[in-house]
Amino acid sequence: MKLQKIISITTIVISLSLIIYMCVIMSLDSKNSNPESSPNNIVIFTPSPSINNNSDATATAPTGNTSSSQITSSPTKTPVPTQSTVTAVPGGKTSTNPNYAGKKIISITFDDGPHPSNTTKVLDMLKSKGVKATFFILGENLYSESQKALVKRAHDEGHEIANHSYSHPLPFTNLSINEVKEQLNRTDDAIKSIIGEVPVLFRPPGGGYNQSISENCGKAIILWSIDSRDWEHISAKKVKSYAADNGISEEEAKNKLIDDILFNGFTYTANGKQYTNPPMISQLRHGSILLFHDIHPYSGEAAAKLIDYIQNSGEFEILPVSELIKTEQRAPQAGDVYSYMWETYATKKQNW
Ligand SMILES: [Zn+2]
Repeated sequence: MKLQKIISITTIVISLSLIIYMCVIMSLDSKNSNPESSPNNIVIFTPSPSINNNSDATATAPTGNTSSSQITSSPTKTPVPTQSTVTAVPGGKTSTNPNYAGKKIISITFDDGPHPSNTTKVLDMLKSKGVKATFFILGENLYSESQKALVKRAHDEGHEIANHSYSHPLPFTNLSINEVKEQLNRTDDAIKSIIGEVPVLFRPPGGGYNQSISENCGKAIILWSIDSRDWEHISAKKVKSYAADNGISEEEAKNKLIDDILFNGFTYTANGKQYTNPPMISQLRHGSILLFHDIHPYSGEAAAKLIDYIQNSGEFEILPVSELIKTEQRAPQAGDVYSYMWETYATKKQNW
């Protein structure tokens, strides 16, 4: 009996030691695969919450220039259940879909609407050019029948309607998960009552999200790879002051500032630092997602000029975001985060 007891205790001690040893090894392995400790192997993009109440554009979006080799995790690492996983679809220079052979496909997105007059102008412009875009709608803007009619019109004309929260709270990551869900549900309900469908895409205000938001929002999160900064650089106020400062007409000022955005690039200051916004045309590539705001008076004109450039080049196809992703035989999945077509962050598995 005594010997049996000793053997039994020894077995338990050895088993426990083995379990502890395994745990330590797994924990070390998991730490090594943390993306923040291996920036050369995995690129994780977490946009900082916007500090501007009117815009998503203060978040720093990736340039879209990341090569696919940079976003592939090292093959020498042994996968463990807690490993952070980034799925990077190898990005081609043009579409592999036979329907778009040889074309670069991009998406144009408009945030914060609908706006009674400015969204109408954008819809008229898109219709005249035969372009379908994606509109990230705020639920609180659907306060009248005419606002709702704009969403219905956009949907009927083939544009994608997506969720941009109810009231654009910033920083969005400060919300509790219940508040996040309320922001999404109120807008989903409002959109469903107008077009009979619930949006599958969500763009958080300011591009601010975290793991909890991406896991619980029930939609694919869509950020952007090319930022027009239209909300600031061609706002009505900026055009007025630029005209006054330079002794030119507002029309001339507007055209100059639009050309800055599209063709010349410009510098801006945020949080006391100076940044360069490169020309939008220099950043265009297969899979780009472009950001505009249809609530501003000149954004539609800027987008129109860009579309003219794109269509004249003959290199591009413009599709709504969900269709862009589907051209590569994938579908936007709840919990995934896209900043452009080729980056899918499988946030459910991430260990942030
Ligand atoms: Zn916004």
